Formats: sequence, structure tokens, C-alpha cells
Amino acid sequence: MERWMNDQSRRTFVKYALGLGLAPTLVGCASSHRADRTTTRDTTITSRPYGGVDDFQLPPELRDWEPSGGGPLSLNVGAISRSRWAKADPIPARMNALGSITRITVHHEGSSVVTFDSVAQTARRLESIRKGHLSRMTAGDIGYHFVIDRAGRVWEGRSLAYQGAHVKNHNRHNLGIMVLGNFERQAPTEAQLQTLARVVRTARSRFDVPLGAVYTHRELGPTACPGASLQRFMVSARSNGILA
Ligand SMILES: [Zn+2]
Repeated sequence: MERWMNDQSRRTFVKYALGLGLAPTLVGCASSHRADRTTTRDTTITSRPYGGVDDFQLPPELRDWEPSGGGPLSLNVGAISRSRWAKADPIPARMNALGSITRITVHHEGSSVVTFDSVAQTARRLESIRKGHLSRMTAGDIGYHFVIDRAGRVWEGRSLAYQGAHVKNHNRHNLGIMVLGNFERQAPTEAQLQTLARVVRTARSRFDVPLGAVYTHRELGPTACPGASLQRFMVSARSNGILA
């Protein structure tokens, strides 16, 4: 649940979640665990390692940012730059280096039902999520590497220079992709699913991640994430070839 909920809305939400037969602690994603910091820190990474667009056409109002150059880990998926939405820089001292990517994990946001798909509203939601992760998990940045909004846009989250904070005890070398919405209570849009498949395909190809190392959050830990409808999609997608 989000920090911006006051007590009244939190109680209402919990009642609603219980009414659906969901344990409220299982609804959210990356909800209560701390970032898996260790004492080993790599502070030598200072470059912003990716950006840019491939065949994905950004809307005109988003074409004013510049790719920040290549690095050892980059993924060209036409993501909207972190600088377009984040109100503060990452905190490197709270993060470990990602180093390499050997697995991919798909999440939902798991908060209130998302009906908006505008750039402005999505940007505000991402900033809210970032702040929540910093305070709840003592994270150095938003926990996910990419977020896919309801219109099917990709947003840059945490830099691929850094290990994410999205699956307790399984963050190492794990690319975190969050699809915006609560898929216990709504369905992903077709645009989201198409983009998700494209991003997973691109990442698998770029980093040689086997299909069997594409997970959903609930497959790695006790959570409802990524929600029933997105879970069904992912199970199907791994067998029908669209992630190949
Ligand atoms: Zn999750």
C-alpha cells in the first residue's frame, strides 16, 4: 500500500482487499522488505549507462531528451528517461552494482486501480512510488528498472548500473519490470502486454537470459504480485512463443 494513503483510506483499502479474499500484506509489491544491501558497494559506477530509442516512437512532447551514452549494461527499449519524472537523484550509497543480468522478474504495482494513462499522471505516480521505496525499504531509488504504463509506454526506473530492489533475497542480477496497475483487481491493457512482451524479448536477447529465467514475483516469493490476470498472461506467454 502506498504511503500517501491516510488511515481512513488505508482501512477502506484493507476492508476491500479482505472482501476479495486477499491478505492485504500480499497485495502490494516490494512492500515491506528492505533493499538487499550488503556491505560490498561498488561506487565506481558513475555513468548513466543507457537511454535512446529503437523502433518505438515517442510522442512529440517526450522527444526532447538525449540518450546519455552507452555503458556495459544498456537496453534500448525506447524508455522515457528517469529525469522526466524523478524529483531527486538516486542515492548510490544505498545501492549495489547490478553487474550483469541473468534473470528477469515481472511485477504489478499492486496499489489502487489505475485508470489513467497520461504522461503527467504516470510521472506523478512514479515519483510517489520512488518516495515510498526510499522510505519503506531504505532504497536508493525506485526499486524497478523499468515501468510500463497503461498506454504501453516504457519508463526508465532505476539505472541498470544498479541492482534493483524488487524481490526480497532475489535482486542480484535480476532485471525488474513493473506493469502499472493492480492485476488482482483489473486487467492489463493490450498495449501494456504488447510492450511487456517486447521489453522481455529485447532483454532476453540483449543479455542472453533463458526463457526459464523469466519469472513473476510470486514465483520467487510469497506475494500476489503480479496479480492474477498478469500471472495468467505470463504463464501463457512463456509457452506460446511471444517471449522468444
Ligand atoms: Zn512484485
